[in-house]
Amino acid sequence: MDELLPDYVRQVRDTVNAFMEREVNPFMDEIEKSGKFPRDLVRKAGEAGIYGAVFPESVGGTNLGYIAACVVSEELARNDVRFAACNNQQGSTCPQCIYSAGTVEQVMKYVPRLLAGETIGMMSLTEAGGGSDALGAMKTTAVRDGDVYRLNGSKMWASMANETDVGVLLAKTDPSAGAKGVTAFIVEPKKYSGWTAQPIEMIGLSKALRTNAVFLDDFVVPVENRLGAEGDGFKIVMRALQPGRVTVAAKALGVARACFEDAVRYANERELRGQPIGRFQMIQSDIAEMAVAIEASRALVYKAATYMDEGLPSNRIAALAKFHASQTAKLVADKAQQIFGGYGMAAEYRVSWLKSYADLFFTGEGSANVQKIVIAEDALGYKVADRHHGRTGLRDPRRDDIADEMKAAG
Ligand SMILES: Cc1cc2nc3c(=O)[nH]c(=O)nc-3n(C[C@H](O)[C@H](O)[C@H](O)COP(=O)(O)OP(=O)(O)OC[C@H]3O[C@@H](n4cnc5c(N)ncnc54)[C@H](O)[C@@H]3O)c2cc1C
Repeated sequence: MDELLPDYVRQVRDTVNAFMEREVNPFMDEIEKSGKFPRDLVRKAGEAGIYGAVFPESVGGTNLGYIAACVVSEELARNDVRFAACNNQQGSTCPQCIYSAGTVEQVMKYVPRLLAGETIGMMSLTEAGGGSDALGAMKTTAVRDGDVYRLNGSKMWASMANETDVGVLLAKTDPSAGAKGVTAFIVEPKKYSGWTAQPIEMIGLSKALRTNAVFLDDFVVPVENRLGAEGDGFKIVMRALQPGRVTVAAKALGVARACFEDAVRYANERELRGQPIGRFQMIQSDIAEMAVAIEASRALVYKAATYMDEGLPSNRIAALAKFHASQTAKLVADKAQQIFGGYGMAAEYRVSWLKSYADLFFTGEGSANVQKIVIAEDALGYKVADRHHGRTGLRDPRRDDIADEMKAAG
């Protein structure tokens, strides 16, 4: 499939692989043992341009687009998905929200440093009451008090919230107004009191790049850190989630490829009854099913990315890609573990924990059932999946103001 991709995308793939092989793969197991967030590596990834693909150069991006962004996510995850855990916070949902809805000052203050890996991002929408109904479950409130808002409540599953310098968090400014009562805020937990992040113990996921429960106790956000107007929050976050969904699908694809590569290697090395187990037809059947599912996922993920690069309506295709790629990751991870036999459960082999990431991508950033609902309601004619088509990110004409301002400033 790579032969069909433009040269610049293949170069991106080579660059990410070289970066991971040099800077991350040799150190990640030690980092996991220490449990320490790898700030220096995130910084190096930022310097290498890994987070900037869907952002223009005026804000520190590389302007390469969504196919490139998907290839970055895929290769990060194929090399070491634990390190890829902060990819969306640095290069997708968090900076997307700020870029698409922020004032020029907000964008220039926060986005370039996130893309450069100098500051650590976060995007916190979900609460304990239910991620699939984020709006209905949202109890966190933001009340204006002069020049600041005071936020109270709690958020759930806020990835990197224990490390973040700059995040986007959603809270209700008018609890009686439904979607129109939700406001987005740029939060800076290290600057203001009232923020407690509690890492959640997860089975099989990184001990260094964590997801958290967050408790807000009169947490302060200056009014100048509100994103857009009061009530714009839900629209802002939904616009950022769709591209995030496609890069998560690409991460699922990367996990599937990692499992497949390990399984193929093992099937060739492991000998039983005097021959490699790859010679057994039932193992070949598994290998064939894995290969087909991966190629199909790849085609869907790259197609969704192409739609986005072309500014075409892409909610439906993104749902297809996310559903298929995450289902594929689960299937391939499961088969890889079986091919490894008992060793597939030993911590020494990464197939023992890669399955947890397949599960995460099946549920996170829009669960499988939610994707199926989007796809089926569109097919049945109940709800057009692409009804809210709006351009995001890189080719967003609303952000000509930033380019103009940069030009004026020389
Ligand atoms: C490791 C991790 C990291 C995360 N990081 C972040 C983050 O950084 N920021 C953030 O905001 N969120 C984050 N999330 C939250 C994630 O997006 C949610 O877990 C996800 O949206 C699902 O929400 P839930 O877990 O509350 O499950 P629920 O919404 O309670 O869903 C439970 C089950 O019901 C199914 N379901 C839901 N609605 C329907 C329906 N109408 N019909 C049929 N079935 C349905 C779901 O598919 C699921 O199987 C993270 C989650 C995890 C696990």
